[in-house]
Amino acid sequence: MSFKYCQRCVLPDTRPGIVIDDEGICTGCRGHEDKESKIDWEARAKAFDAVVADAKERATGYDCIVPVSGGKDSWYQIIKAQEYGLKVLGVTWRTPARTEIGQRNLDRMIDKLGIDHIDFSISPDVERRFMKAAYEQVGVTGLPMHMALFAIPIRLAVQMRVPLILWGENPQLEYGGNDVERLSDRLDADWLAVHGCLQSTDAESWVGIEGLTEGDLAAYRFPKDPDFDVRSVFLGAFFKWNSFENTKIAAARGFGYSDTDIKTGSWSFADIDCHFISLHHFIKWYKFGITRDFDTLSVQIRYGITTREAALAQIKERGLRIPEDDIRRFCAFQGESPDWFWEVAERFRNKDIWKQDGNDWTIPGFVIEDWRW
Ligand SMILES: [Zn+2]
Repeated sequence: MSFKYCQRCVLPDTRPGIVIDDEGICTGCRGHEDKESKIDWEARAKAFDAVVADAKERATGYDCIVPVSGGKDSWYQIIKAQEYGLKVLGVTWRTPARTEIGQRNLDRMIDKLGIDHIDFSISPDVERRFMKAAYEQVGVTGLPMHMALFAIPIRLAVQMRVPLILWGENPQLEYGGNDVERLSDRLDADWLAVHGCLQSTDAESWVGIEGLTEGDLAAYRFPKDPDFDVRSVFLGAFFKWNSFENTKIAAARGFGYSDTDIKTGSWSFADIDCHFISLHHFIKWYKFGITRDFDTLSVQIRYGITTREAALAQIKERGLRIPEDDIRRFCAFQGESPDWFWEVAERFRNKDIWKQDGNDWTIPGFVIEDWRW
């Protein structure tokens, strides 16, 4: 397979959602152009007024659910909802590997922003077996996480009669999606099927694997034929999303992060809630030939914070950073040795882009010529 890189940012078209057009520009960069010039944000803000009015009219208790991790975007989403007078119920899927700073931010968020909140825990043993199955079968440690964090708020909204769910950014607008997806505001069943990181599976697909029963997977199920209409939208479709601005807004109200402790990519303020998120990003090296830096630095290039040249130099200097501590923690959680982790990772190496050269694996045509393989 031949693959190519965007001429403006550093993303290759091996990344899901990234298509590079005739001018050599990727869907992520086109999304940024949409944000800057195509989308009429005033009209979008007006449209949000109507979303709010509809929620208020149909609400019998909470106006909206905001799915939250405690991270910067969670804070921003709640602050925005409260600006519009919405009564918020925060809902969290509790990761089995929450970080200390993640817990502190979540506690602070509930306190400082004054919201009601549900911290939804799934049996750690079920999480463990589901993660193992997902990693071994499809190479996605983050699949159970994504299924839970979408299914739990959606099901609770139906059951608790909460008419609106406010998600954060529209990933297809921020990270690459087609013309229609970029302009959409809806997170619905169709979106989940394609973009939910669920590999075209649902909870039922996993019954019987690693001894998982239907009952074990109850929390991961989406409501079938819901008897209440929940509007489920991306806040980032109504207000121009900017991770750096969101961080400032969140930090002004109490969100904390360490400037020096970078978990993944080039952002110290992102992916800090959970010890296992780094694995989800790490495996993309095998599958798509990218590190998290490719994603975060591409966003910075679009924002004009860095240049393509500087980004490539930074990626080269950092090299492949292996999240050793998190891998160790994940293997301990699984009761497996690190060898197991590496063997499974190897199984998902994308042979369309990776070629073996003696003992080394390399990617011919990699964007950095003198990369240390
Ligand atoms: Zn691009």
